[in-house]
Amino acid sequence: MTSLPTVSQSYRDPHRYPPGIAFMDGQYLPIAEAKISVLDWGFLHSDATYDTVHVWQGAFFRLDLHLERFWRGLAKLRMTIPYDRDQVSAILHRCVALSGLRDAYVEMICTRGTSPSFSRDPRDAVNRFMAFAVPFGSVANEEQLRRGLDVAISDVVRIPPGSVDPSIKNYHWLDLVRGLYDAYDRGAETALILDTDGNVAEGPGFNVFAIKDGRLTTPEFGVLPGITRRTVFDLCAMLGVDCAALLMSPEALAAADEVFITSTAGGVMPVTRLNGQAIADGSVGPITRRIMDAYWAAHSDPAWSSPVSYPDEP
Ligand code: PLP
Repeated sequence: MTSLPTVSQSYRDPHRYPPGIAFMDGQYLPIAEAKISVLDWGFLHSDATYDTVHVWQGAFFRLDLHLERFWRGLAKLRMTIPYDRDQVSAILHRCVALSGLRDAYVEMICTRGTSPSFSRDPRDAVNRFMAFAVPFGSVANEEQLRRGLDVAISDVVRIPPGSVDPSIKNYHWLDLVRGLYDAYDRGAETALILDTDGNVAEGPGFNVFAIKDGRLTTPEFGVLPGITRRTVFDLCAMLGVDCAALLMSPEALAAADEVFITSTAGGVMPVTRLNGQAIADGSVGPITRRIMDAYWAAHSDPAWSSPVSYPDEP
């Protein structure tokens, strides 16, 4: 009979945490100590909404828009939290300040919570707010940002908006995760999935843009209205570039001159291969580069950023 492994042999922590700070139940905690009940509806039923904002070089980017979207989601899900927007903003600032992170990925979350009687009526649950700051992460790594991502359009269909409203930022990701595995099986790095009419919708954590003859388009239907997507519209207006939300067929995407994806986790990220074929000549195109540069330059615009006060600063 083989003997049982000792604790030190068996203990290779599969739940390692990055550095970071969380806020929960009125307290700031190291991220590894922020735990929720297994009875929380957020965990049991994906009954939750959240928002993600980033901090870049010590300042939040467009935090007001993320707070607005979070509040719209709360209202649509009939959830309430015991904080107003200024208080949530202060909590997020504090998480980042305590973490010391200059580049951070910051989430605010509200779950349906639990009801003391384990009632099946969501109205009995006490909603739960939490937040955290961890190091900034990107959908695309440095090499992918340089050469462009290799993406596959999966046959997986996005959950219909009539079932789960995509404008409520949510954790219903089984379609997106299926799409990812589908893409990996085809040798691609990430996926785009389709809407219920067979048009391109979005990917796991990002929106998509195509550029054809100098004009930008992005899917209008069945997608999260991303803040980075909105920022691209704002930047295009400033740069005098034509940009519209329209239906996007997979064929139109494949025939684009340039393609990029957008997310708070990484910003504007080029795509240079689609379904195993190069997009145009397979290099990152000039308009994509211009939008990427404008996006990062906009981070130093005081109108779009709010600096964090770190404890070690005067
Ligand atoms: N679409 C989905 C499904 C997402 O989860 C996200 C972000 O996480 C996005 C799009 C991009 O939105 P944003 O630019 O606000 O990060």
